[in-house]
This record gives sequence, structure tokens and C-alpha cells, in this order.
Amino acid sequence: MRVQEPNRAAVETRDHARVTSVLMVGVGGQGILMVSKVLATLCQNAGMEVKQSEVHGMAKRGGAVFSHIRFGPEVHSPLIPEGEADVLLALEWAEGLRWLHYLRPGEGVFISDVRRIVPPFACRNRGRGVTPEYARATPAEIIGRLGTGYALDATGIARGLGNERTANTVLLGVLSTALAFPEEAWIEVISRVVPAETLEINRAAFLAGRAWVAEATVPEEEASPVTADPLLARITHRLEITRAWCKGCDICVKFCPERCLVLDEEQIALLAEPEACTGCRLCEWLCPDFAIRLHKEVPAPGASTSPETTSGTAGCDR
Ligand code: SF4
Ligand code: SF4
Repeated sequence: MRVQEPNRAAVETRDHARVTSVLMVGVGGQGILMVSKVLATLCQNAGMEVKQSEVHGMAKRGGAVFSHIRFGPEVHSPLIPEGEADVLLALEWAEGLRWLHYLRPGEGVFISDVRRIVPPFACRNRGRGVTPEYARATPAEIIGRLGTGYALDATGIARGLGNERTANTVLLGVLSTALAFPEEAWIEVISRVVPAETLEINRAAFLAGRAWVAEATVPEEEASPVTADPLLARITHRLEITRAWCKGCDICVKFCPERCLVLDEEQIALLAEPEACTGCRLCEWLCPDFAIRLHKEVPAPGASTSPETTSGTAGCDR
């Protein structure tokens, strides 16, 4: 699947006169450490100072893995503060969504495989035929909210080349279009990092990622305007928080991508900025106590609110 949003700006290559921050996220077994090693080596070869910090203690299959890479003339900290990543590269879709708040607002580039690896915590009900709870925000919804974003089936592209484990290299190819290093320099480093017998397929995967961007990028003047569906425009979200069930764990507050939830004076979750809520449902899925429910509805004037719950209503154009 390819997702190409008409409101997306063409990728701007980053100049390296200042510190550039790249956050790579995924789950164990996807090859995060390989792609981060390629980028770090590339930066070192270019004479830059590089600082890298990674968590791979959970790098058994399925565990979350991430790597912060910062490079430039002088780098003081290896950790990327929230809201300051120039690029967020996600090898797994939900991991990408979990880290979206690290992206520099309005400027950061989001690159993600749309592959979904449902983690164990999203399978609390293991009954036959049960749909796992998993991030349901579609690539189009997410990319539409970002200045520059790419959601592509990197795993499918890699599979088509003969080895789906090279999906990480396909994504490196996409990443290469957002950073100001020459194509040959990337390929030279990749050839030193990957096993010799996989060199050709990794090279093909890298070029396939670059080719995907070239094909997917549409100059803004050629892009067709987004037309709003009048029915969808009338749908609103209502977030219902069951106060008696909320234990104030703060998870929803921390993970809300729009930062619209807070804990009130009684340490109960409260939708403080309903107009910012996009109805993404992350809070509903992540609440361990099932204290949040999101309702999508056509607003009825004067709708009542249950005394045991609080709710906020937010407009939606998706
Ligand atoms: S549904 Fe609204 S409040 Fe909940 S996480 Fe998404 S944006 Fe935040
Ligand atoms: S995640 Fe659930 S229990 Fe935790 S603060 Fe939010 S609503 Fe309350």
C-alpha cells in the first residue's frame, strides 16, 4: 500500500550546519540497530560529531527498541528532547504513533512502515476471532496531520525484492532523501555493515526506498485539493471518562498525541482541551482500567452527561 497525501510538502534535505536529531523506533528483530549503525557511521565518515543512545534490552522479538542519533558540528547530549526530532523513522506503525510527540512540530519528517506487529498487551482477550486492540488511526489520518510524512509498505517492497527482512533498508532509502548525504556514501556504509551475502539485496532495497519517494512526491502545485465530505464534517467526538474507574495513573495524559488530557485536582483524567482532540482513541486503548470511551456521533443539542462521567466534545473533519 502506498499512502500519498496531497497536502504533504516535498522533502527538504536537512543541512548539517546545526545538530540534526533522528529517532528510530520499532520492535525487536526488525533491524533498528543496523539502520542506526549505518547512519552513525555515515555521520562519522563525514567528520561530524555523533552521539547515539539506544535501548535494546527489549530486543527479543516483539519488545520495543529505539535509538536516538544526534549529529552535527558539536553535540552535547545523546538524547532527543520531546518535540525536537527532525526525523522519526518507524519500522512498525504503532511504535511510530507512540513516538510522534518527539517530532518537531510542523517541521519534522515522519517515515513509517505501515506494517503492524500487534504486541502482547494488545491481546488481552485471546478468544478466537477477537480483533486485537491496536492503534486504529489510519496512515492517511496521521500523515494528513503532519507537514511531511511517508507511510509505505516497506515490508511488502522488501518481500517483492526477495527478502522481507530488508524492510529496514528500504526505510533507510527513504531516510536518505531527507538528509544531505550523497547516495554513494550511504551505499558504501551499508555494504560494510550488512553481511556480504546480503549486499546485493540490501543495495536493491535501499534504492527501492529512494525510488518510492521520487515516485510518491508530488509538487504542491500538481496536488489535487482535499475536498471535505460534508457528512464526515458533521461527526464529532465525545470522550467519556468514568471517574470512579480512573486511578490517576497518568498514562492517557502522557500518551495523548495532542496533549489535551490532564489530571484534575483529584488526580482524575480530564479532557482539558476538547478542541484539540482528534478522536485517535489512543487514550481509550491504553487506559488499563477501561475508564475512557470515545464516542463518534452527530451532535445532538443539549445531550445530557452522565453524573458519574465527564466528557468533552471535539469537532472532527476526518
Ligand atoms: S482521543 Fe483525543 S484525548 Fe484521547 S488520545 Fe486521542 S487526541 Fe488525546
Ligand atoms: S489511563 Fe485511565 S486510569 Fe490512567 S489516568 Fe487515564 S483514565 Fe485514569
